Amino acid sequence: MEINSAKYLISNVDVAACPTPNKPEFAFIGRSNVGKSSLINMLTNNQKLAKTSGNPGKTQHINHFIINYDWFLVDLPGYGYAKVSRSQRKEFGKMISKYLQERPNLICVFVLIDSRHKPQAIDLDFLRQLGEWEIPFNVVFTKSDKNKQSETARNCKNFVNKMKEEWEYIPRSFITSAVKYHGRKDLLQYIGELIDEYYAGDDE
Ligand code: GDP
Repeated sequence: MEINSAKYLISNVDVAACPTPNKPEFAFIGRSNVGKSSLINMLTNNQKLAKTSGNPGKTQHINHFIINYDWFLVDLPGYGYAKVSRSQRKEFGKMISKYLQERPNLICVFVLIDSRHKPQAIDLDFLRQLGEWEIPFNVVFTKSDKNKQSETARNCKNFVNKMKEEWEYIPRSFITSAVKYHGRKDLLQYIGELIDEYYAGDDE
């Protein structure tokens, strides 16, 4: 899939105020600083679309973008952000869980995992929660350029192996670098396939 247009639509704290759910939607989430904004900007080939660190934006909101006038890309708040209070974290948790469970057009959640680290409980816990809610997800490893290729491959494999300890079915994962544009084509192709399936389903 080529991205011909990417436009910011709206930021919300309330799922009810999100755009009419009449198009397929893909959400991106991960720990703060995982490289989510950079990944979104890389995918859309627009370095100014999502707010990157140091560029204070509506990082605690549900941010909707419309891509190719055909599908919604959603930038969700990062989890595990140390600088917010416990009560604020609880509010984000509620907002995210409501969004994930109530958005009818949500096709898939891309959970971003930093490829430099060993498997982290906070990420595994989040995936487990998605599983309990039966929300389809894929894992996107970020910052693959930061380490040697062999080390990145080992970290990603370790994470997938950790998932295998508790999951019967392991969804497809992607290794990406926003700096090198690594993984962009595969990820966009995959999203394109899911969009085609979504619209094919409409005809049945
Ligand atoms: P967010 O908080 O998850 O949106 O993360 P950002 O996209 O703002 O990225 C956090 C930091 O990691 C920034 O300093 C980025 O420049 C850096 N970063 C993000 N993605 C990559 C990547 O693929 N490679 C490298 N080398 N740095 C990255």
